[in-house]
Amino acid sequence: MADLTLAVLRQGGEAFMEALSREQYLAISGHKPNADLRPIYERFARVLGPGALELTRDAFRTATAGSEEWRSARALLDWQVTSQASRELAELDERLIAWEANAVIRLADGREVPYQRAPVEMATEPNRDQRLALDDARALLVERELAPMRAERLQRERDLVEALEISPGYVAASEALSGIDLGALAAECKRFLRETESMWAEVYGEAVRKHLGLQPGEATRADALALMRATRFDPYFPAADMEPAVRRQVTEMGTSPVADGRIIYDLGPRPGKRSRAFCAPVRIPREVYLVLLPHGGATDYRTLLHELGHALHFGNMRDDLPFEYRWLGDNSITEGYAMLFDHLLHDAGWLARYSALGRTRVGEYRRAAAFEELQFLRRYAAKLVYELELYGGETPWSSLPDAYVDILSSATTFRYRTADAFVDVDPGFYSARYLRAWQLQAALREMLTARFDEDWYRNPRAGPWLVRELFAEGQRELASELAERVGAPALSFDPVVKAIEAGLAA
Ligand SMILES: [Zn+2]
Repeated sequence: MADLTLAVLRQGGEAFMEALSREQYLAISGHKPNADLRPIYERFARVLGPGALELTRDAFRTATAGSEEWRSARALLDWQVTSQASRELAELDERLIAWEANAVIRLADGREVPYQRAPVEMATEPNRDQRLALDDARALLVERELAPMRAERLQRERDLVEALEISPGYVAASEALSGIDLGALAAECKRFLRETESMWAEVYGEAVRKHLGLQPGEATRADALALMRATRFDPYFPAADMEPAVRRQVTEMGTSPVADGRIIYDLGPRPGKRSRAFCAPVRIPREVYLVLLPHGGATDYRTLLHELGHALHFGNMRDDLPFEYRWLGDNSITEGYAMLFDHLLHDAGWLARYSALGRTRVGEYRRAAAFEELQFLRRYAAKLVYELELYGGETPWSSLPDAYVDILSSATTFRYRTADAFVDVDPGFYSARYLRAWQLQAALREMLTARFDEDWYRNPRAGPWLVRELFAEGQRELASELAERVGAPALSFDPVVKAIEAGLAA
């Protein structure tokens, strides 16, 4: 067997990621009843062994900060840390998955609801007492059974990462591996929460009164689910038009919606196929699946546009980029492209041209969409602030549930519950990637509008530019570096806030 070098690791790593991604694609799309991940982990044991971790850690330590070797080693080490922790925690993860698949919520009136159905049931339950009763029963079950397992997972993952001594403490290690200054981002989040406070209070009060018949202060997170579901626009986003509409738009933008055959649309119904659209990059850039089961409705359109953004990114990457810049790197970038596309649903011109809303309903739809966006963003900003507290080590673990309720409830005005403090957490600060992606998409849109006009999404010069300057480059850069290279404004929440204000005023 060849010595384990970075070149050998890149080759094995790519084969491992392809095998994993193909298995996940086959299972989630219903081609196979379930994913057999353990044989893949066994087959590629060397790629995930202690030698591989040691190799990438040394490469990161010895490389000159800022050099190409350092950049590459950072991506490889980040991947090794995440994958090795997942392997260590595989047994616990399997228990968690099995619990979530089988748990049943039992209500006082004898009704039984599968745990995974609870969010949908709460969102669609018109009777508020029933909705809250379901949430009470859910919270009780979570507190007793799920929360301890999730807390154990968070603690063990933190301990595993801290033991690697990349930097002192989990937060500093995450910053070193991601290249994101989490403290600075959390400060931006706090400023964003302050600056949008009065705007939020105004639209929030109006929405809960009008659509829920409640006073501000009464509504809980379960009510938020019901409020955000807003199905009144669904007829204007018909299932049959969805895929043709987005294909037409990408074609009008001057690029191929299938990346010259590298993106494969998997549209057929199949037992066991997941109902939400998803993108599975099986070989990057040559074999990328965009899987969907069109039901229609604004949410379905948004998910398709989001996954299309990922698919165009993966399907258009330069194939001479090393493994780590195609498969790994700063996911704020791929999430930023996905959001650049899903935010087309906030654009008056796009909605008039590619949805069935008609000019008369565009304004009302945009106001509702901007409200939802503001709620979602305030929730994510608060999540990062809380997750820093969770991993920071200053707040005792037993005080975290109260901190969670304080931070999330004051940001969103919806009342959160202590039961969810360890359940509503994005592992490994993925929330920071989403927040960076939010900033990136808004910065890119400002730049694209300046360069290719308001309707850049159908300017035939825009598509080739996006492919060449953005998608082809994979994830070699950080989101902040990418914005600078293409002449977009520096990343901040300012253009995000501006867009939300415009939407609310539509
Ligand atoms: Zn995504």
